Amino acid sequence: MRMDTVIMGGGLSALTCGIALAKRGQRVAIVASGQSTLLFNGGSMELLGCVDGKAVTSPLEAIAALPAEHPYSKLGADRISELASEAHSLLTDAGIVMEGKADANHWRITPIGVAKPAWLTLSSHFSIDSLGELPCKRLALMCIRGFFDQPNGMLAEGLKGLGFEVDKLEFTTDEITALRRSPSEMRANSLAKRLVSNASLQRVADEINRLAADADMVLFPSVLADEDVIQTLKSMVKKPLRLVATLPPAVSGNRMQALLRHYFRMLGGNYLMGDTVVSGTLEGDRLTSVTTAKLGDMPLRADNFVLATGSFVSKGLVADYGRVYEPILDLDVDADADREQWTRFGVLEPQAYSRYGVKTDAGLHCLKQGKPIQNLRAIGSVLSGHDAIKMGDGTGVSLLTALAAAQSILATK
Ligand SMILES: Cc1cc2nc3c(=O)[nH]c(=O)nc-3n(C[C@H](O)[C@H](O)[C@H](O)COP(=O)(O)OP(=O)(O)OC[C@H]3O[C@@H](n4cnc5c(N)ncnc54)[C@H](O)[C@@H]3O)c2cc1C
Repeated sequence: MRMDTVIMGGGLSALTCGIALAKRGQRVAIVASGQSTLLFNGGSMELLGCVDGKAVTSPLEAIAALPAEHPYSKLGADRISELASEAHSLLTDAGIVMEGKADANHWRITPIGVAKPAWLTLSSHFSIDSLGELPCKRLALMCIRGFFDQPNGMLAEGLKGLGFEVDKLEFTTDEITALRRSPSEMRANSLAKRLVSNASLQRVADEINRLAADADMVLFPSVLADEDVIQTLKSMVKKPLRLVATLPPAVSGNRMQALLRHYFRMLGGNYLMGDTVVSGTLEGDRLTSVTTAKLGDMPLRADNFVLATGSFVSKGLVADYGRVYEPILDLDVDADADREQWTRFGVLEPQAYSRYGVKTDAGLHCLKQGKPIQNLRAIGSVLSGHDAIKMGDGTGVSLLTALAAAQSILATK
């Protein structure tokens, strides 16, 4: 099978790159072995949230001071603003409507009630422009009885710590109660399937209107399947209503992944779900084909290839007892040689492994034994030099490196 570009990986970076290429008429195949870390996403994208332990207010200013090995520095600080605006438009075109600016972070609220700097947040979700100026005073936090994925106590305490008055209001309806046939069914995604019809939404709205009459704003867990359902519930509730992120797997991340995949396919892209790239053939400084587990002796050939296989959690990087490696082509990896350095004891300690990744040149070409592979670029969280957990730059790096790689591929034609 011959393509213009083959992308290995099926998450945010792969889909963004695939969409940008397919939009310009390329024949693109994405090979995705499984779901992606987008499923952890509670409804926000981060460009740069934290540098040297301090919250970033203006990502564009802070990016200019990042070290040379950070992917943003490789793209060039002066391109970030343009790429960020292109990324925002691409998400909108895919049906993911988000608000925010690259030159001023706002604050998203995590499922456990912590305010974190964010670049873009789904417009239906609760966020705060400035911690000094709260959008309202009195919040009604709607708590679905028996729902597992929202730690209401922590969320309420976190919001109170920001200065809100919070009423925790527990409720249920017959449809929701029926979900409790087994304890594992009261999850965000199962509620999303149940709360769809106008009748079931009206019963939820009646409960909200009954309980939250004194609130300035109603916060509802992000368990609504799509924008139409969200708008329907909003129209039935008498107070302004915003969604709050739940623990993963998140309905919002699931929806973003589905919308991006749908858009990619609408543009003519081939999404090979459930297949894994296992090896590739190098000829000189070029990759000529990759082999997948299912296609076996029918390799995928292309002019260009993109590695978007993610970090350890997605198996884009692997650690065995002795080393950290990239499993498809054994590309050069930036990681400490001494395994004692990989991790530190303590969940909240900074972990060295979270910045490990494949090495690239300034054009994002992967390196093997120090030499760039001219038609293989790496994007997203498989890249070294950034740290989604410590720096809050994961989704930004995925989106922006994906667009930069697509531009660079299109420029080779
Ligand atoms: C728990 C968690 C929470 C996070 N929270 C946030 C957050 O709040 N904010 C933020 O900005 N970022 C967050 N991130 C980071 C963010 O999710 C990622 O930076 C970004 O979405 C990564 O996208 P990606 O496409 O590069 O990689 P991934 O999402 O990891 O996708 C990699 C894809 O490659 C596939 N794959 C792997 N190997 C192969 C192979 N050999 N063949 C074919 N396919 C393969 C995988 O199945 C997967 O689909 C979080 C990450 C995690 C793990």
